Amino acid sequence: MPTISDGLWAAPGRVNLIGEHTDYNEGYVLPFALPLRTYASASIVDSPQWMVSSEQQDDVVSFGPEQLTPGGVQGWAGYVAGIVWALHESGYEVPGARFALRSEVPVGSGLSSSAALECAVLTALCDLGDLDLPVPDRPKLAQRAENRYVGVPSGIMDQSASTLCREGHALFLDCRTLVTEHIPFDLAGAGLAILVVDTRAPHRHTDGEYAVRRHTCEQAAATLGVPALRDVTDLAGALKALPDEVSRKRVRHIVTENQRVLDTVALLRDGKLAEIGPLLTASHASMRDDYEITVPEVDTAVEAALAAGAYGARMTGGGFGGCVLALIDAPAAGAVGDAVTRAFADNGFTAPASFVAVPSGGATRVS
Ligand code: ADP
Ligand code: MG
Repeated sequence: MPTISDGLWAAPGRVNLIGEHTDYNEGYVLPFALPLRTYASASIVDSPQWMVSSEQQDDVVSFGPEQLTPGGVQGWAGYVAGIVWALHESGYEVPGARFALRSEVPVGSGLSSSAALECAVLTALCDLGDLDLPVPDRPKLAQRAENRYVGVPSGIMDQSASTLCREGHALFLDCRTLVTEHIPFDLAGAGLAILVVDTRAPHRHTDGEYAVRRHTCEQAAATLGVPALRDVTDLAGALKALPDEVSRKRVRHIVTENQRVLDTVALLRDGKLAEIGPLLTASHASMRDDYEITVPEVDTAVEAALAAGAYGARMTGGGFGGCVLALIDAPAAGAVGDAVTRAFADNGFTAPASFVAVPSGGATRVS
């Protein structure tokens, strides 16, 4: 790979503090950006061609204008081609470029390496091509690349977090209006930390189960005569009106989860960081019992973290594997991590990986 010298850009992965499966029900989410980032070293080339390599992949992929149609580039480089395609479709003249990528975000663990990749590339192309695409409009464009070009039906949270997050804050995002607000989340200042545990549990049935949950929510909203489950204001009445137990459970999760996001935001605005713990744990119970998207590894991690003194803990991400987060006293990170590792060993699970997640800033030029 020749030296790529025009500049270096980076965009972070994220964890969702609370608000799971609320995005496609037009509700609320509260992610924050990780200190782990995907780096895109990039330089302009003088023809409309794009060349991409990645430390996480063996192949180097090239594509030209003829591949700028959904599905035109398959595999991992499709995330890059998708960004070029989405910019092109929105009328921007995208410069040809060479990219070398490197990710600190674990790939495929639910920490959004895909959005980190998209947003690093998008930021680089906007700077290199001097494209007049306002930062607040970038998440939508990156989401379109992932939805339409790559073909993954993800919500707007990941790209919003990777682009817009601020150091020391969580991002309160209304998935209906796309209005965002930076909520102070200075963990270190409060002597606290968020421990993220990558359970390394194999993802099971993720796509199919996601589609079924989404469909059940849409059907329930139709039955209740509301545009989306976000609009359910009388939970007891809604539960009476629904004909089957499965929809009742799914609706109860979405409605209570939206409220938990609002309650979390209210506590954080008051600087009561440790007091969000019970909301995190209640969110986990709701995902386990009502939304039925947890697996033994994530339940074990949550229970072990709570038993080791965490203020609260929950699975984060779409479910069926992935990561758990725990709110803890900062000095307890090692002990809580060890307790989870021991619990995994006792159950015969693959050893997990833990790290402390400091709320960090969004996509930026590094040099
Ligand atoms: P997550 O976003 O939770 O990490 P996804 O399945 O949404 O998981 O995205 C992972 C996919 O994104 C990978 O399979 C790969 O195609 C692509 N990807 C992410 N990061 C990189 C990278 N640094 N280099 C190449 N491809 C990457
Ligand atoms: Mg992803």
